[in-house]
Formats: sequence, C-alpha cells, structure tokens
Amino acid sequence: MITSSQRQLLRAISRSGPLSRTEMAQALGLSKAAMSGLARDLIQLGILREADTIYGQGRPSIRLDLHPDCAFFVGVSLLQDPAPMILGNLNGEIIARAEIPLSRDPAVIADAISEALPTLLSAHPVAAEKLAGIGVALSGFVDETRKNCVQSTLLNWQDVPLADLVRDKTGIETFLENDAKAVAVDEKLFGSAREIQNFSVVSLGDGIGCAHFIDGRLYRGNHGGAGEIAHCTIEPGGAPCRCGKRGCLDTVASMKAIKEMSRAEGFECVSLAEIENQASSGNTAAIRILHRAGSALGLAIANLIQMNDPGLILITHVEGSFDGLFGTVVNQAIETNVLPRYAGQTPIRIRRVDGDIWARGAASIAAHHFILGPNP
Ligand SMILES: [Zn+2]
Repeated sequence: MITSSQRQLLRAISRSGPLSRTEMAQALGLSKAAMSGLARDLIQLGILREADTIYGQGRPSIRLDLHPDCAFFVGVSLLQDPAPMILGNLNGEIIARAEIPLSRDPAVIADAISEALPTLLSAHPVAAEKLAGIGVALSGFVDETRKNCVQSTLLNWQDVPLADLVRDKTGIETFLENDAKAVAVDEKLFGSAREIQNFSVVSLGDGIGCAHFIDGRLYRGNHGGAGEIAHCTIEPGGAPCRCGKRGCLDTVASMKAIKEMSRAEGFECVSLAEIENQASSGNTAAIRILHRAGSALGLAIANLIQMNDPGLILITHVEGSFDGLFGTVVNQAIETNVLPRYAGQTPIRIRRVDGDIWARGAASIAAHHFILGPNP
C-alpha cells in the first residue's frame, strides 16, 4: 500500500523525471532531513533507485528515479485478433508478450486473460508478486471510472462492465480505456510528452483516434467522448459513415477509407505505400485520393490546434509511409488552415508505431492509476 507522501513523490517524479533529494524536498515542501529519511525508506522498499549523478556548481548530486521493478502492469489490446497482451514495468518497458484470441463475449475475454496471466508473469521473477494492475484498451467509449465500456461498435458492446469481470477472474484491479486515450497516457507517463502539459495524439490506422491532455490531465469531456475527431464532419453531405452521419473525417482520411477509395478506382493495392508509389509515378487517381485524404486530416488537425493551442501534436501511424504525398499534404493543410500567427508554432511529431502500441497504452492506464491514485 502506498502512503500519501510516497504517492506525492511518485507524482513529482512521474511529472519531471529523476530528481535530486534537494529537488524532491522542494517539490514536496519537506525539510532536507525529512526528505532524506523518506528517500531512504523508499529505496529500501524498492520504490526508488539512484539513477545518475549531476555535476554542477557545488557538490555533485545523485538523482533518484522510480525503480522499474517496483511494480508491474499487464496491458491487453482488444483492437486486434489475436489480441496482444503485454507485461510492462514502471519504466513503460515491455518485459514479455503473449496473445489471446479476440472474442466479442466479455466472459470469454476475461477467461482468456486469466488463463494467459501465469505464463506472462513467469517472464520476471518478481512480476507476479508486484503485479499492480491490468489495463484493457478498446475501440469505443469508456466511462470515467474506467470500469465500463459504454459503447463499442467494433465489439458490438453496450454497457459492458469488463473491468469487474477481469478482476473477478484474476483478483487484480483492472481498468479499461479508449485506444487513443490509452496511447496519450502512455506518451505522458513514459514517452515524448512527459514534460508537456497540453498535447494531442492523433492515431491513424483503419480508423482515426484522438485524445487530449489539457493542463497535464487527460481530458475526457462530459460523456468520455472528447477528442473524437474521426467523426467531425469534414465533407458536409459526404459519404455515409459507420456512425450514422455523413462526411465524417473517418470516411475520407482513415487508412480504411483510403484503401476503399483506391479499390473503387481499380487499384488492387493493399497498402498506403503502394498508393504513394502510384501517385509518385503520376497516377492522377492516386494523387487525387491522397490529396483529398491529406487535406481532410490536415484541416481537422488545424481546427484542433485552433481550439486547444496544444504544445505538441503527435501523429502515430502503423502504415510506415508518412513522408510521401499524403504526409506532405497533411502538413500543408495544417499550415494553410491555422491562424497565420500559429503557423509553424505547434510542433507536429510523426511516429511510426508497431501493433503493440495499444497494449502498451493499456498497461500505462494501470500504471497511471498506481502512480497518481484514483483522482489524478
Ligand atoms: Zn462518423
């Protein structure tokens, strides 16, 4: 059980990275003597470790960081079949990986997670003893308690209390999260956004996910749906969307949409890279499709910048092709559609990710709860 002063320290380190004892004392408003005692206890408990030594003016100071083996987390992604399941530590590193069959039956999923758990935990000598939580990422809406899936089109779920089903089977506290929100939490805790208070993640795959951190906290909105740019209308009266509306961003700029538009033009291509190849060799249909998709995505991101003024937009993609026409048009459309004084002011980072990104994000949801407690 973590005490309140220990949790304050975990929060401070998770926000700023490794800290010296003097910096920790300042962050927590403690005397240096009290801080030294607290740090000693936490090192003995295996929660903190000495990370590195900083040489500046005066005496060198040793910085303390979270011990990666202090707690372990399991993350499961219900976005793929088979569903990836990973074991992660408190550094956000993946220690072990397994797969379970994807099912639309929540009880079957809970059973599969429970059955796969012992093998996954056997990858590290103390993982079973220090397992602090399980996270599950899925496509859809999750309530603010992170226990219930309010609605998922992909899984055909409505009000499914999956977290409690998994906890009942495994005895381990479990949390659910929307896929893009889980990725954003992973970036905040362990990734490139660790020190950024306001940022958005746009995850480009078969569908388009999006999530925002505002003032250092994940912004959920009133119904958990904040950040759903996929269903912003981008072409009024356009093609029907699976959500029931027309002309959503998802119908033009998702990988699924790009491939469908390409097939309708007679391409047999199955990848963005192949459509890019066609465009670079002058195929006008391929150029038109990539222009339409890139302009739509860039316009949506420009609107996002206009509304939230984030310090970073991170675009993640699994297709491995963002340096061709599509990526160029996205960037141009962003620059063209933001207020001139914002142009070039918001860093746009593009990152290719592998299929474990959502399972990693899911484990981060459990780590987020461990570090920050129930009311972050
Ligand atoms: Zn839609």
